[in-house]
Amino acid sequence: MDETMNHVIESLNSRGVTIDDLAELVMFLQIKYVPDLSEADCKAALLRVLSKREVQYCVLTAIALDKCAYNHTMDDPIIESIIDSDAPLYGLDEVVAYAICNLYGSIALTNFGYIDKVKPGIIAKLNDANHNNVCNTFLDDIAGALAAAAAASIAHDYQKD
Ligand code: MG
Repeated sequence: MDETMNHVIESLNSRGVTIDDLAELVMFLQIKYVPDLSEADCKAALLRVLSKREVQYCVLTAIALDKCAYNHTMDDPIIESIIDSDAPLYGLDEVVAYAICNLYGSIALTNFGYIDKVKPGIIAKLNDANHNNVCNTFLDDIAGALAAAAAASIAHDYQKD
């Protein structure tokens, strides 16, 4: 595992998102289509996704923006307040998530939309924690996108033709 990937996983952990949490989401998304899917398969897919440099940069950027908004260290007070309050029309938190999903095609995008609506597991926890001594505006979408991309990666491996 390279240094940046380690840093990404540690950054996610420091924000309350573990590989176990994400593997649970992958299982939730993909078990219907791959009946013998194991937790180890889900974790391996997540590590494949997290090994991509584009994904790593999305995760780190998302976490940095959430932290800056929460700590009031942004130069622009308006955008800081928009991110910190998770303004419904902001939408760039989803756009960063799409940047991850786009690397894994339409299955990742539809998975992301589904997870964003249903909010299973860690996604609900991140949402509930938002505004409560933390800003998870970007993080909830990033967590959903990582799981959606990993599930898509499993789908593509499983269905070779
Ligand atoms: Mg969000």
